[in-house]
Amino acid sequence: MKFFKSSESDPVCIDIKGKQLQCTVCGHEYFYKKEVYLMTGLLARFDLSSANQRKATCYICRNCAYMHWFSI
Ligand SMILES: [Zn+2]
Repeated sequence: MKFFKSSESDPVCIDIKGKQLQCTVCGHEYFYKKEVYLMTGLLARFDLSSANQRKATCYICRNCAYMHWFSI
């Protein structure tokens, strides 16, 4: 299984509200950043308009690949 595209950036340390993000599973401190659109609502299956999309940022642990999601 391949998690990351080759064009993604190098892993970085993440600061959230003045605290360094640590993986909740393994405690690792380096993450790949990825911005995604979440589809919400019943119409999300059929309607691709921006009304049913919500942007989120996820940080994927470099060590164990656990995804930490932040809604923005
Ligand atoms: Zn981890």
